[in-house]
Amino acid sequence: MNNAPSWGRLKRKRRTTLPFEPDIRPASPQSILPYGNGRSYGDSCHNDAGTLVTMGHRNFILAFDPETGLLTAGGGIPIRDILKYIQRTGWFLPVVPGTKFVTLGGAIANDIHGKNHEKRGTFGRYVQNLVLWRSDGEQFTCSNSENKNLFAATIGGMGLTGVILYAQIQLMKVPSHFVEERNTPFSCLDAYFDQEDDWEDEQEYSVAWIDSVSTGRAFGRGISITGNHVEHAKMADYGDPSLSIPLTPPIPVVSGLPLRLFNAAYFRRKQQDVEPHLTGPDSFFFPLDAVANWNRLYGPKGLFQHQCVIPLPAAREVIPELLKTSHDFGQGSFLTVLKRFGAHCSPGFMSFPQPGYTLTLDFANRGAATRQLLNRLDDITLDAGGRTNPYKDGRMSARTFQRAFPDWQKLEALRDPSIQSDFWRRVSQPVATRVMATPPSISTPVNQPAQQGVQKTQLQSVRDKAPARAANSGTR
Ligand SMILES: Cc1cc2nc3c(=O)[nH]c(=O)nc-3n(C[C@H](O)[C@H](O)[C@H](O)COP(=O)(O)OP(=O)(O)OC[C@H]3O[C@@H](n4cnc5c(N)ncnc54)[C@H](O)[C@@H]3O)c2cc1C
Repeated sequence: MNNAPSWGRLKRKRRTTLPFEPDIRPASPQSILPYGNGRSYGDSCHNDAGTLVTMGHRNFILAFDPETGLLTAGGGIPIRDILKYIQRTGWFLPVVPGTKFVTLGGAIANDIHGKNHEKRGTFGRYVQNLVLWRSDGEQFTCSNSENKNLFAATIGGMGLTGVILYAQIQLMKVPSHFVEERNTPFSCLDAYFDQEDDWEDEQEYSVAWIDSVSTGRAFGRGISITGNHVEHAKMADYGDPSLSIPLTPPIPVVSGLPLRLFNAAYFRRKQQDVEPHLTGPDSFFFPLDAVANWNRLYGPKGLFQHQCVIPLPAAREVIPELLKTSHDFGQGSFLTVLKRFGAHCSPGFMSFPQPGYTLTLDFANRGAATRQLLNRLDDITLDAGGRTNPYKDGRMSARTFQRAFPDWQKLEALRDPSIQSDFWRRVSQPVATRVMATPPSISTPVNQPAQQGVQKTQLQSVRDKAPARAANSGTR
């Protein structure tokens, strides 16, 4: 009954899907949307008025050069398969998200970030070139030098510019896929912010887990988890989940007392584990993947994730305010994560990160009450000059989106006319002129705007030349 879901499981329904083939031609006015593995939380990977074109069968590696670390693969390959393939080669993906079950196309389309944004920026920075299919049947090789407007729109363009058939990625040299992990408890958010600067310079990865339900003197306590790749002869697992949540409970079980107990127990366990220790990549990067379908724990109405980024100067004040706001609304976040974003520019002009701190909160969907809370979190974020993450979202208003992403019309200009998503339908609606005329509160967006205009005539077709063009440099 619920096929092609997104991770938030907010809207359960049977969706029309079709395995993508380059010769499909969407019948007007029907629209399509590429679908990777549905690890987006909200409606950016859905098109309920049209068809989802699934990419799972395009899961191949076309070329890999162990000398240069250049890898070319199909848009539907899960990053788990890439990691397995390269694990003995001394190379690693320079950016991985919190789950290994995302596809290469999804990682590019959302320009994902990892625990090392400060060091490496987003995934899109490592895309050397990609081959994009458009619904008129043309294919385009896109890179920083070829069809660059389309390249800049596709990285972080949420699937709206076309279907990524292949991409060539520059991998990162590492001693092994294993990591030496360090856990450092902090008693409050000020202590976290104080510690951050020292750790960031020497550690590749850094992320903090926050006990979001503690109040009083324990408010904002948490664990900073940092790590560096180290030599290790063993192969990593990149295994299947060891547990599974078989059924959706009738009510969320990640709130109230269970939530408090979980947070307290997790804090205690990590607090006792402060010696640097060797950790496999599954446990360091993808701990949530150990339990299949953990999103079912949020109950039949699903979950909302709210991820925002707050510019550095405002963060010390605003991050606690966001946490307090969730307390005031009586809704605790089950998994609360805080990370610092660096200043690396993405090639994509719609990329979410900007320099600052990013806070991620997960809430069981309790209808209007949760939506009110999320709207309030949006307002606090916007007032602080920040933005809410579109690919974690399933309800943001057009006004909120357009204020935070002033370049959205450039994406609209390059959107494939036959591609549409539920998210885009909602957030690209006209909003009151007064609001549009107001300068966006983010006065210094760090993501590069598109370098040139957005006329479709500038696109250079490479029909019939892919994939050879994508795999041309340094590949064997
Ligand atoms: C447990 C968990 C942890 C996560 N941690 C992080 C994190 O640390 N950092 C982060 O940035 N994100 C994170 N995410 C979000 C996730 O990484 C992104 O939403 C990712 O893009 C999902 O990829 P997917 O393959 O499942 O794509 P989908 O969710 O199916 O689609 C994502 C978007 O990509 C488009 N798309 C998919 N395939 C193609 C293609 N071949 N061509 C063109 N467009 C395509 C779709 O149209 C859609 O707009 C996390 C998600 C989960 C569930």
